[in-house]
Amino acid sequence: MRVCVTGAAGFIGSHVVDAVSSFAEVSGVDDLSSGSLDNLDGSSCRLVEGSILDPDALADATDGVDAIVHLAARPSVPRSIADPAASHAANATGTMMVLEAARAAGGAQVIVASSSSVYGANPELPKHEGLVPQPMSPYAASKLATEQYALAWGHSYGLPVLPFRFFNVFGPRQAPGHAYAAVVPAFLHAALRGEPVTVHGDGTQSRDFTYVGTVARTIADAVQRRVTTDGPVNLAFGSRVTLLELLDRLEALLGRPIERTHTERRPGDVPHSQADSVRLARLFPDVAPVQLDEGLAETAAWMRKHVAAVVG
Ligand code: NAD
Repeated sequence: MRVCVTGAAGFIGSHVVDAVSSFAEVSGVDDLSSGSLDNLDGSSCRLVEGSILDPDALADATDGVDAIVHLAARPSVPRSIADPAASHAANATGTMMVLEAARAAGGAQVIVASSSSVYGANPELPKHEGLVPQPMSPYAASKLATEQYALAWGHSYGLPVLPFRFFNVFGPRQAPGHAYAAVVPAFLHAALRGEPVTVHGDGTQSRDFTYVGTVARTIADAVQRRVTTDGPVNLAFGSRVTLLELLDRLEALLGRPIERTHTERRPGDVPHSQADSVRLARLFPDVAPVQLDEGLAETAAWMRKHVAAVVG
């Protein structure tokens, strides 16, 4: 079996490469805009360094594949607010190009990465896939385009598709220490350096954290069993943890208090997020998630080993 992972050098992409490599020959395409070749150290993935917006690079990476796991995107809500056109190009136009590449490859299965951010301003909890999406940022709108393009290509061309909505995925290889870092690596990085963490807002906002290993295993299972759907599927397990609770858990893990600085809430940030996982459990009955504390311990261990200027 041959599988192409777009965004293969990224955080989630590199874990998917690892998971899929156990049963498939893997190629990847990545422009290294936020990913890193270090993430593919020791991997047998054939990487095409280029953009999914470049038809030649995409054709090279997807030639003869049975499945495409489409993760390449310009991530982050604040980044999309700073430059919405770039997010649209990579996330919306880029997805359409990947779907066309899947057709050219003879009808490859396409698994795409959408996001819990599509629920946006809809206050209902837990978030089930039947809720009306209310994107609050250009990023969220572009992720809605990602999943809806995939579903439309399923209807229009009979392409076997599976759009997942990821929630807050965390784990080793998630880059800390930059302006758009996700909350787990940002908090851990600061805490391990003995610096105060920055909390946007009062910290009562909640998230459904999912360990990257669980996400990668679920995607690998979907590829192996060629799972397809005619609607989006939440890839999260219904836990709801506030940022203040996350800090408590990190304090327990590190065995020391973590100082915090509170700043303004960020525009586009949703107040609460928690998945309804009924549809996921129906499609993937055997997936058992790695628990938050275990995942945080793995992430801290990775950061101590791989990130410069982090103290033990
Ligand atoms: P990431 O930034 O580590 O991975 C994205 C990868 O795509 C990077 O390697 C980047 O270099 C590559 N890329 C960006 N634009 C490209 C282009 N035009 N052509 C080729 N490669 C390109 O981020 P991640 O967290 O691993 O995210 C993977 C996917 O999951 C993204 O689609 C993201 O929107 C989605 N997602 C992630 C989360 C999360 O919590 N991490 C939540 C919801 C959705």
